[in-house]
Amino acid sequence: MKKSRFFIANWKMGMPLASAQEWCKRHVGGLTALQKGDNNLVLCPNFVALQSVIELCKPAAINIGAQNCSQHAQGAYTGEVDAQSLKDVGVRYCIVGHSERRALFGETDEAVVNKIVALEANGIKPIICIGEDSKQYHAGHTKAVLEGQLRLVFPVLATLPRALIAYEPIWAIGTGDTPDINYLDDIFLWLREQVMMKAPDTIVSLIYGGSVTPDNAEELINVQQIDGLLIGGASLDFQKFEKIVSLASR
Ligand code: PEP
Repeated sequence: MKKSRFFIANWKMGMPLASAQEWCKRHVGGLTALQKGDNNLVLCPNFVALQSVIELCKPAAINIGAQNCSQHAQGAYTGEVDAQSLKDVGVRYCIVGHSERRALFGETDEAVVNKIVALEANGIKPIICIGEDSKQYHAGHTKAVLEGQLRLVFPVLATLPRALIAYEPIWAIGTGDTPDINYLDDIFLWLREQVMMKAPDTIVSLIYGGSVTPDNAEELINVQQIDGLLIGGASLDFQKFEKIVSLASR
């Protein structure tokens, strides 16, 4: 059976408002063609661009995600954006626990859990990012690191109807390095077993992220337990994004 595939574009801070608007206007037709069959396209622009991207991409019937949200429902949290505002603007997905937020903004496992709860209360599906750094990878500690990052998450995840877990080795993000396919096979099979054991009633899509390009997309999506790709740098360039989606949805 052909699996339903997610293609999630994480634009990070690489697409300022005017560029995001231009990208959407120019490529809405192309996006419509890519959003076919079992494909699920999710674009994650910055907060300010969300509303425009949602409006401009309406004809393509794709989903829009946020890159972050506050762990609090409301209050004196200057600069934060609450999940309800994201819902109100039309956001359907939200990235939480991205390694850049963990490393640069001190996002803890507790904060990740709170964000998942806040998103769930507003009907937004979390894209929960996990991953080990290069030292942990070389020491053979990947599963222990992932287990630690998921320890607090699983009890909440088990109460949700659906969620996404994105395995993104930190050493693969933006570096051009990707893990060996046999290694990914093993990690994703293990992740699937963890989900079946700890959140058996939740529909969890497992996503790979880290230096996805048109050259490796097909091989990556063919890993048995991978349900989709999270694409950073390459998603800024529509031609590359289009190639990735086309090759990985054959
Ligand atoms: C990311 O940061 O989520 C990511 C996948 O980045 P890149 O594709 O650029 O490695």
